[in-house]
Amino acid sequence: MVKFVVVTGGSVSGLGKGTLASSVGVVLRSCGYRVTAIKIDPYLNVDAGTIAPGEHGEVFVLDDGHEGDLDLGNYERALEVKLTKDHNITTGKIYRKIIQAERNGDYLGATVQMVPHVTDAIQEWIECVAHTICVDGLEEHGAADFCLIEVGGTVGDIESSVYLEALQQFFARLDRKDYCLCHLIYIPQIGSEQKTKCAQHSFKALREAGLAADFILGRAESMLEPCTKRKLSVFSGINDRYVIGLPNVKSSYLVPGLLLSQNFGQLLTSKLDMPYRNPHQVTRFYHGLSPVEVWTRIAEREEALKTVPVTQIGFVAKYIGSNDTYLSVVRGIEHSATECMVNAKLVWIHAECLSDPKHAEYEAEWTKLRSCQGVLVPGGFGQRGAEGMVAACGYARKNRIPFFGICLGMQMACVEGARSLLNIPGAGSEEFGAAGSDRVIVFMPETINKAMGGTMRLGRRATHLCSQTENGTLSLAFKLYDQAVTVDERHRHRYEFNMDFHDRLAEHGYRFIGKDESGQRLEVLEIANHPFFLAVQYHPELTSKPGRPNPCFLAFVLASAGKLNSRFQKYDNTLRPGAEFFI
Ligand code: GLN
Repeated sequence: MVKFVVVTGGSVSGLGKGTLASSVGVVLRSCGYRVTAIKIDPYLNVDAGTIAPGEHGEVFVLDDGHEGDLDLGNYERALEVKLTKDHNITTGKIYRKIIQAERNGDYLGATVQMVPHVTDAIQEWIECVAHTICVDGLEEHGAADFCLIEVGGTVGDIESSVYLEALQQFFARLDRKDYCLCHLIYIPQIGSEQKTKCAQHSFKALREAGLAADFILGRAESMLEPCTKRKLSVFSGINDRYVIGLPNVKSSYLVPGLLLSQNFGQLLTSKLDMPYRNPHQVTRFYHGLSPVEVWTRIAEREEALKTVPVTQIGFVAKYIGSNDTYLSVVRGIEHSATECMVNAKLVWIHAECLSDPKHAEYEAEWTKLRSCQGVLVPGGFGQRGAEGMVAACGYARKNRIPFFGICLGMQMACVEGARSLLNIPGAGSEEFGAAGSDRVIVFMPETINKAMGGTMRLGRRATHLCSQTENGTLSLAFKLYDQAVTVDERHRHRYEFNMDFHDRLAEHGYRFIGKDESGQRLEVLEIANHPFFLAVQYHPELTSKPGRPNPCFLAFVLASAGKLNSRFQKYDNTLRPGAEFFI
């Protein structure tokens, strides 16, 4: 029987419910349990695919092609499970299901209402997905011991109220030892005093929804004072042992350890009537480390890296200003940096400034880019910034700076090659209006449906790699994927490289190393006579894990620091991602 741990948030948004829920998952996994997760997004969009990342953070794509909230990525990384589209409940999906059923006549005779129809549909959905997990290679596939449910938004929002009602009804059907509610609140500090008024209001809102917290987690600048805990205990009606402090910490990787240090593991498992097992004695994990030890080690290594000379990575993108917009890419770099102990620092560069000499920041952005030891161009949509990305690709290619292009980044690298080497000044992407023989990047025939919403080439697909280059050396991609000839990575694109340019670019050293099953679609591009030029049509950031970075990221970080060749030598022309982390 699966146990439910629900995470809600009070007073303000952006407190880190996703980080908290992931960290609870890391704690439970460290006690030897199998944990899955459901993210509830109370918006009316069916999925996050059409929401701008500047608005809501990156769109995280699952194996099955679902375009979801970035927290699904947090969960996959923390829980080492594979999630599916059904692990992301949105109001759009629930309403769509209900309205379809109504049109089918499934409710014939009844008035279809929020209660019971919508609340029942939510409960049924949770029941359907909570009990099993599909694991990512480290643990077996099978029944889940715990299911985390994160309710997006803040208690008291109009949008989330129907979910709280559904949960209230759901809890009423369960045994008291089978569910637990963790409520995250904000404790502002004025002067030296920690203020609890916002928290009090949010307890009230929770109570009005018919719910009572089992744990209060107080996000604050510093550790909760005993008197703050006492007040919170009085106003929430729970014992102060169950009031847990979440002070600001240097790294989010420290949060599971912080929870454990306040006995959260024992308290949670005993509330849910499950045996507590000491994470330091549970040995069935990767290289003998429990998940919490892996996370703590990452934080320790981040600290140790501060004394290592910086390797600057120029991140040439459209949306600058929030880590959330490219969260998985940032994590991919972090996982790699802490694995190979390279002090990789991202330097954010506004792509649109690089292509326009009249732009006020043109010189400043180019100066930043020139100071970098590696250049990364991530994925993206729309024309804004695309010319700057082309310029960055050309700069990295001509100056032999390690380059890593992801999806749009690969497409812009191909456009740059066609313009500079094939003398086609109008070369471009059909996405941005290129026509006729200028179309280096073309609309993909299989996505004939020009409608928005789940219509791209999405999810996990196989890529076949050539092991050798034209001159008989091993290809970079073959080596970095530990000499695999087939790799599975996740995709999200509507346009692709036009194979009409294949032979002409190949004459200039463009190596089309990875293709899809049909051999007709470009997946991996490398360039001869360049220290490191790797561009991929897929999104390797979506499968990078703490301690086990995606090999494309690891290789790029190593190459930027000038350490890739020695790594290949050390491991016999393979990379062994994770090898250095788990020593
Ligand atoms: N906009 C491009 C396409 O649709 C690239 C997509 C991406 O970078 N995810 O093909």
